[in-house]
Amino acid sequence: MRSARWRAPGRSRVFYRSAPRTFARPVPPLHAPSVLVLHFESTRFVISVAELAALNGAPLAMVPEVAFVGRSNAGKSTAINVLTGQRQLAHASKTPGRTQLLNFFEVPDRGPEGLPRTGAYLVDLPGYGFAKVDAPTRSRWDQLVGGYLAGRRLLRGVVIVMDARRPLAGADEHLLAWISGRSDAEALRVHLLLNKADQIARPERARVVAQAEHRAESLPMPVSVQLFSGLKKEGVEELRLTLRQIIEG
Ligand code: GDP
Repeated sequence: MRSARWRAPGRSRVFYRSAPRTFARPVPPLHAPSVLVLHFESTRFVISVAELAALNGAPLAMVPEVAFVGRSNAGKSTAINVLTGQRQLAHASKTPGRTQLLNFFEVPDRGPEGLPRTGAYLVDLPGYGFAKVDAPTRSRWDQLVGGYLAGRRLLRGVVIVMDARRPLAGADEHLLAWISGRSDAEALRVHLLLNKADQIARPERARVVAQAEHRAESLPMPVSVQLFSGLKKEGVEELRLTLRQIIEG
């Protein structure tokens, strides 16, 4: 993985409740902490949310969330579909009525003894294209998406899907400002997915990545950068690996 400023994620430490005092020796845990076995191919749509307040009562597990966001037409839906090996999954987010919602997709995991459980959520956020939208639409986007990015505690990472020919445009910066404003920004991973790499000549590719990495250096979050092509299905394993790192922390 090309990494602008990749800080190795700190191993999350697990503490067990100490044994009751009547025991002479500590009681070993029933199960060793399990490693996540995420099945991206089995990802399924679970819920759409129209406003942040609705998240409180939503039937969602308390597991890490990774948001996918990007300018309209950057290829976000294609990237999610390719990542999950499903042709129509994220296009569900484009059906009338769902385009301005936070769409939650569950990635299943195998728990102890192989039992299925929710491993993480991929959250497909409404696309943005601020040049064209009117003020009320923009304000609504800020409230819902900006509010989610700035305040959601379960959010572990954000994948920003960009057209590799026009990375880090003004609207992307607007988005980065929301994330940078978090009090725990340093703990949030940002992954810049430079999509449509198939449209860039090979000699140009390193320059595009270097440019994005250069911008990433001044951000408070750990940022990684990768080239991707949803069309050619290039970079899929690298994206899955990055998501596993983000989710496992
Ligand atoms: P979204 O609006 O960000 O969800 O974008 P879509 O996934 O709907 O893709 C927008 C357009 O870009 C569609 O015409 C896709 O076929 C095209 N597209 C998506 N990914 C790629 C890619 O990797 N390479 C090329 N050349 N086109 C792509």
